[in-house]
Amino acid sequence: MEQELKTIYEAQKIDIEIAENERKVLLSPKKIEEMDKEIKETRDKVEKEKQIIDELEKERRKKEKELDVEKEKIKKYESRLYEVKTNKEYQALLKEIEGAKQTNDTTEEEIIIIMEKVEEWKKDYDSSLAHLKKREKEVETEKNKLEKEMSSIDKTIMKLKQEKDNLLSIIDENLRATYNMLIEKRNGIAVVNVKNGLCLGCFMNIPPQLFIEVTRNKQLIKCPSCNRIFYFIEEV
Ligand SMILES: [Zn+2]
Repeated sequence: MEQELKTIYEAQKIDIEIAENERKVLLSPKKIEEMDKEIKETRDKVEKEKQIIDELEKERRKKEKELDVEKEKIKKYESRLYEVKTNKEYQALLKEIEGAKQTNDTTEEEIIIIMEKVEEWKKDYDSSLAHLKKREKEVETEKNKLEKEMSSIDKTIMKLKQEKDNLLSIIDENLRATYNMLIEKRNGIAVVNVKNGLCLGCFMNIPPQLFIEVTRNKQLIKCPSCNRIFYFIEEV
């Protein structure tokens, strides 16, 4: 029995390693999801800044057209100055010209303000875009690395499972079934040591007589509290 207990204890070590590797595999999709989310948010930011710049440029072009229209008007008025017959008409034209020039002054100031805004937004946009390109490359590299790691972990898990199956194949079928059931139901720990009369699986006291039996490793004894299989290893 001692050899069998030792065997399932060794198998459990492998099972613990398998569980650790499986946890790593489970974390991978979450990491990828987080990276994708970050890239999407950065892309949205870049897109939004681009839209603001486009809107401002549209506004600027509109103002420039208005400017051209007014300039045309001024030209027309100025050419008519030589054709008018009365002073009253002449004064009226001068007034129109003055009004158009004032409108243009205002429009030109507005265009300058828009251009300044565009300048500011372009700075933000350029830096966001540079950050996006940088992160896209980094994330690509991280994903590739993660994929390689995952495939290596998958191989490790397969290898460990094979090792464990080999170990368990030499023990009694009932013991194997009990072991597998406990691994599943008892949080991945089926075989436990005892120390100072305590089960190291559930930390409950075990009766003194039972404790002595356990330390002999001569028979299959389960913890009265957590039902795990005892395997005594003297700790030095
Ligand atoms: Zn216990």
